[in-house]
Amino acid sequence: MKVLNARQYDTEATVQVTVQDGNIVAVSKLEGRTDEPDLPWLAPGLVDLQVNGFGGCEFNDPALKVDDVAAVATLLANDGVRRFCPTVTTADDDTFASALKVLAKAATSHEMVKKYWAGIHLEGPYLSPEDGPRGAHPRKHCRPPNWSEFCRWQDAAEGEIRLVTLSPEYSESPDFVRRAVGANVKIAIGHTAANSEQIAAAVDAGASLSTHLGNGAHGEIRRHPNYIWDQLADDRLQASLIVDGHHLPASVVQSFVRAKTPERCILVSDVTGMAGKPPGRYDTLGLGAVEVLEDGRLVVAGQRQYLAGAAAPLIDGINNVRQFAGVDLATAINMASVWPAKFIGCRSCSMKDAEDLILLEERNGILSCLNF
Ligand SMILES: [Zn+2]
Repeated sequence: MKVLNARQYDTEATVQVTVQDGNIVAVSKLEGRTDEPDLPWLAPGLVDLQVNGFGGCEFNDPALKVDDVAAVATLLANDGVRRFCPTVTTADDDTFASALKVLAKAATSHEMVKKYWAGIHLEGPYLSPEDGPRGAHPRKHCRPPNWSEFCRWQDAAEGEIRLVTLSPEYSESPDFVRRAVGANVKIAIGHTAANSEQIAAAVDAGASLSTHLGNGAHGEIRRHPNYIWDQLADDRLQASLIVDGHHLPASVVQSFVRAKTPERCILVSDVTGMAGKPPGRYDTLGLGAVEVLEDGRLVVAGQRQYLAGAAAPLIDGINNVRQFAGVDLATAINMASVWPAKFIGCRSCSMKDAEDLILLEERNGILSCLNF
């Protein structure tokens, strides 16, 4: 057991933190003053709504095991993540069904996974088949939403699918959105080539999030109207953003955060199993051939324009959004913790539960997770 001093991330009040076996077990008000400089920040655990895998494990791998899911949870925890949505991306039916079954089993049978669980995010297959919008999702599997098919998957997932990213460009989309929202499943708009009317219809039906706004889009689009402006302007949509320094230029992050307001912005990592791999070409099960470039970008193999997911942990997004959009520390942390928790409705990482808290060290304006 160890006791150390820290500052609360939002009030800057000095507190005393008791840590044991890698966890914070108690927090109390510090009596008196301390002159210690640069105390770590005590903050709510991070919540990542989009995790495709990590450290060589892809959730779309047909050989996925419960222990693999637990290993991902452990690796994410090292970077401060305390809740996450394992994300299953567009694949053939067998891969989908087996991934959903293993994830559901992990959520109910493995203590570590159960503790960190925020529900499954299904990103596909109800996405646009067009190059650009579909990103790295295989075209042959992209198709219109089908409620009875989804219900079979939700059964395989034992009801653990909490978020579906779809494109509103299909005539089936509004009805699907209504049914899903009625069944307590959140709907996000993403990987879409939809027009203004189609986006409005999906939001009217209950869609409440834009998945990685500004990515999963054509290389060139009409100046206006287009699906980015439409989603940006609709206050009923929150927006998830990948702020890894590669997916969106700093000026776009700044503009999105200002237009949406920080309270409607959620940082996601969209991290894949390629995270931490050295530069090179890799054949992945979920996304086909991908390349890790020298600058850390993960792209669809053979070109440089279309990204195939990300490789930077969520905490990098917090550091980048402070820099790119000029938001303060507490706001940047909320964008990756309190607000995504509230959106997905998971057991919240609030400041009340000591074991859900994390300590962040700040050096030259860069935060990193303090593991003890
Ligand atoms: Zn995506």
